[in-house]
Amino acid sequence: MKLLLENWRKYINEEMEEPITTLRIFDFDETIAHTRSETRVKAPDGSEATLRDQQEFEAYMNAAAAKEGIEAFDAVDALMELGYDIDLSDFSIVKDPEEITIITDIMREFPPDSKTYIMTARRGKSLGPILDYLEEIGIDSNEVRPIATQGDSKGNTIAHMIGQKIMSDGKSNISRVEYYEDSQKNIDDVLRKVCENPDLDEIKPIDFELIINKVINNEGQYNIHRIECSPPN
Ligand SMILES: [Mg+2]
Repeated sequence: MKLLLENWRKYINEEMEEPITTLRIFDFDETIAHTRSETRVKAPDGSEATLRDQQEFEAYMNAAAAKEGIEAFDAVDALMELGYDIDLSDFSIVKDPEEITIITDIMREFPPDSKTYIMTARRGKSLGPILDYLEEIGIDSNEVRPIATQGDSKGNTIAHMIGQKIMSDGKSNISRVEYYEDSQKNIDDVLRKVCENPDLDEIKPIDFELIINKVINNEGQYNIHRIECSPPN
């Protein structure tokens, strides 16, 4: 009993001395799993399109946003207001998933000084099915915190998360962010808002690292391309 108590005390002390220093952030679609989700669009001019993947989705939305003079980070809401019928219902489920094991093998490690997030741009009630899917592939969903940005900037969301852990020296306690993502648009946004953002320099600890792991699909063969952002000294 005494031993148990000592272990328990030791555990509490460790918790206080070594709080979370690493955020591990995983996109879902085409990062954790490949799915067969499609987006069906009907434009106000009557034209119809089926967008079969992220690239087709971004290409269509960028073109439509340019045509309509929309400058939002994510044009979906503004286009819907203009009468575009955009059917995203495939993204409220996890449709015909194929696990991307090169990423899920990393996800299931759960290092003790880290917190693990799923950050998806999906809208609506998508988080329940994503957590159910994690359980299906043997990942404890209680270890994973889900965030749906609903199309908002992931870079802004991550910058905000870093700013929420400020210590007495005025610096964030988050010294490492590992970000797993397939979308170059999101990666560019995170580089801009987290790596190159002068507003964050004041609160970044001196050893701050952002490590982006870009998931690349070569006809069903997945690779990771590592992009680093370290302090310039
Ligand atoms: Mg994705």
